[in-house]
Amino acid sequence: MTDGTRHKEFNARQMVSVNQAVVVAEELVSNFYKFSGSQMRQLNYDFKTLSQLAPHEIVDAHFAQIVRYRTQKKDSLLETDAADFYLICLQDHAILSAVDRFENLNLYPFMIYIVCHELIHVVRFRRFLQHFQVPPDERQVEEIRVHHATRELLKKANIDGMDPVFAFYGKWQEAFEQMDEIVTNGNDVT
Ligand SMILES: [Zn+2]
Repeated sequence: MTDGTRHKEFNARQMVSVNQAVVVAEELVSNFYKFSGSQMRQLNYDFKTLSQLAPHEIVDAHFAQIVRYRTQKKDSLLETDAADFYLICLQDHAILSAVDRFENLNLYPFMIYIVCHELIHVVRFRRFLQHFQVPPDERQVEEIRVHHATRELLKKANIDGMDPVFAFYGKWQEAFEQMDEIVTNGNDVT
């Protein structure tokens, strides 16, 4: 959670890059997994940037936080009766701070990497290849797998400025984002 001080948000020009990066990354992930349009929609996720985030969706130490919102049907004991939705909360301040600090790291390729990485997590949750909540050591193994997949996908895509991004992720084993889960009853939360 954040200490409540004001964080730096993407400006209008940066938002254009971020939105373009999301579109490109969605297409790359969709092609990588050979998903149809309806399969992509079934992933049931959304991205938000800092200005749209609720206080509990903001973190300081990560570039993103994935919040799984689960809605359990009233009076149901079955886990399968829960509908879930993944909100990928982009942390503008953490991303911009990395771009400021690392000379060759540019926002657009960096955002493509971040978005691809988060989407691969969502795909793996949806395919039950990975549970959402796991102990830290298992989390770290999954993190390495997701970084490998992200790199494999992006190497084929030949995007300008991606080499400094790969160099930036030399330390793959570090957890890349925070995971949080919020369970509600009844009404949809999106
Ligand atoms: Zn990750």
